[in-house]
Amino acid sequence: MQHRSLLGLIPVAALSALCAWSAGTAGAGVAPAAPLPDARGSLSPRGVDIGRWEHGEVNPLSNWPPPDPDPPVDVLHYDLALTFDVVNPVVNGTATVTAVWGSEPDNVLRLDLVGIPATAVRDGQGNPLAFLQDPSGLHITMVPAPVRGDTVTVAVDYGGTVTSGYYVKPEVAYTFVEPQDARYWFPCQDEPWDKATLALHGRVPSDKILVSNGVLDSTVAVGNDLVYNWREDHPLATYLMCASISNYAVLPQASDVTPLTWYVYPNHTTAAHNTFKYVDEMIAFYDSTLVPYPFDKYSMCESDLGGGMEHQTATLLGSGIVTAGYTYEWVVAHELAHQWFGDLVTLASWQDVWLNEGFATFYEAVWQGAFYGPGYFDDRMQNAEDIVFNIEDGGGDVRILDPPVDELFSSIVYYKGAWVLRMLRDLVGKSTFDAAIRDYLNAHAFGNATTADLQAAMEAHYGQPLGWFFDQWLRAKGHPHLSYLMVPVQLADGWHAEVDIRQTQSGQIYRFPLEFTVTTTAGDTTVTGWVETAHDLLDFPVSARPLTVAVDPAGKILESHMENTTTAAPERLPVVSLRAWPNPFAGALHVSGVVDGAGSGRLEVYDVRGRRVRSLRADGGDLLWNGEDDRGRPVPPGVYFLRAPATGKAVRVVRLAGGS
Ligand SMILES: [Zn+2]
Repeated sequence: MQHRSLLGLIPVAALSALCAWSAGTAGAGVAPAAPLPDARGSLSPRGVDIGRWEHGEVNPLSNWPPPDPDPPVDVLHYDLALTFDVVNPVVNGTATVTAVWGSEPDNVLRLDLVGIPATAVRDGQGNPLAFLQDPSGLHITMVPAPVRGDTVTVAVDYGGTVTSGYYVKPEVAYTFVEPQDARYWFPCQDEPWDKATLALHGRVPSDKILVSNGVLDSTVAVGNDLVYNWREDHPLATYLMCASISNYAVLPQASDVTPLTWYVYPNHTTAAHNTFKYVDEMIAFYDSTLVPYPFDKYSMCESDLGGGMEHQTATLLGSGIVTAGYTYEWVVAHELAHQWFGDLVTLASWQDVWLNEGFATFYEAVWQGAFYGPGYFDDRMQNAEDIVFNIEDGGGDVRILDPPVDELFSSIVYYKGAWVLRMLRDLVGKSTFDAAIRDYLNAHAFGNATTADLQAAMEAHYGQPLGWFFDQWLRAKGHPHLSYLMVPVQLADGWHAEVDIRQTQSGQIYRFPLEFTVTTTAGDTTVTGWVETAHDLLDFPVSARPLTVAVDPAGKILESHMENTTTAAPERLPVVSLRAWPNPFAGALHVSGVVDGAGSGRLEVYDVRGRRVRSLRADGGDLLWNGEDDRGRPVPPGVYFLRAPATGKAVRVVRLAGGS
């Protein structure tokens, strides 16, 4: 889904319009639903009623529930024979649900169905079944009692006003239920981990077209109406099942990948041709970069919302996107990328929402970089970084794995999620990343995946553990704030740029490779060091005197940095490392890096048995050790350790025979 994130990217002049469109996307901003009877006490532990939370009630959860490893039932197929009112948000008909019995201990089949009353329930042979409906769902008493492994079928007659998830607007009527409002328009097990196939027989006035998932088997006239018989044989999550109804103009587009059809308002056909002109190339790109497009068709349906919604094979797109040309082409790419990330491989629970939104946001940028040039990828990632920093610096930070319930669609999930993937690709290498992503998609095709599944696929190709990477970027909030200072140092082997770098954020200390462009009197050179602790000292040999350093010049890490300007004159620079030369030594030993930021310090010399043999004081610059102990006697040849207490640094030296 793509809606709130638009706000970070649009011109200010368009804001008011976008906000108005956005109001329709999440359900909450649509004409307020009548409050449901308060039945908090009867909320089932599993059937959490998210829709009610969206309508202003307090949600009992702070985080999203994990997938159920042994669900009560496993739905295989939904057959929905429904009449859609296009004047009022009313649906009537019969839902036939086929499921395999699982861990349910009683003879009660519980389905989510909220706000719309069921009137009769029958079994697979047409015999009536007793049922009870309360705000936690529909409870159907099965006779005889099924046992684990039995396939059961129930037909539910129901109808009435849909209080969330089916929206009727002047130009269009449509379902939009992400994350958990499918239960408002049909009885279901409304969990992303329970994917099932779908047949939708949708009856609408004959001047309307109804678009749904999968293939259109037939259109049948019934009186003044038309019944559209759609069928999706590839399992899909309930939040991806849809109906979009309007007096659409139908625009096919040629493609070698899959049939492409755009359904737009008749007065938007010219604009749609312009906005969608490269979708054939877009789908060919994803088809070859990821795994082949997995479904029977791809459609986009114009609708009355701010962004888009990636219904399986039948994306919704707001009019503002359809008519914007290139400006919002990235939304088109985003929703198309969801066909792989979200639809083919669906999050196992809403805890893993970044697997949907981070991937779709990353691959919209990947497409732009591949099609328009690498600078477009960089621009989108820079834009994403700006959005993340704006939110995080404003105190709106969230962790992107297992976010709080009301932050499910935080822009952080989208844009930081994309950044995590970008940094992961840089870390493991593009070919490794691409191969791992293909494995991940193939391994979980038409099913579900968790973040652990992604990590496992990536580690299998990378050959090294990546838990540290996933933990720091997904489970912690925020990003590294760096304070750095470059010190030019001339040693016996030539010039060095020594970079003192500190992580100043509170909480998580990050580990990442960081590039620097060092400008020297002989030109620029780019080097990489690892930032691993709260305070690192990085040493880069360079060919000439270093003048300045640019941190992360290509913007590859989600970090912010500031030069440390609080440390004064060069002679009082902080120590960057402890150095001794020549080493081994016979006569005097030169030592640098003893002093701290205050410009003074001690050097202590220990022998191999841990006895301190010499203590020297340094003020400001380097010092010389003449190889004598505190009593003025030459120390014997052998190994010694030099230690600078001010910095905690130590270095091993060898004194040769023949010294003074
Ligand atoms: Zn999305």
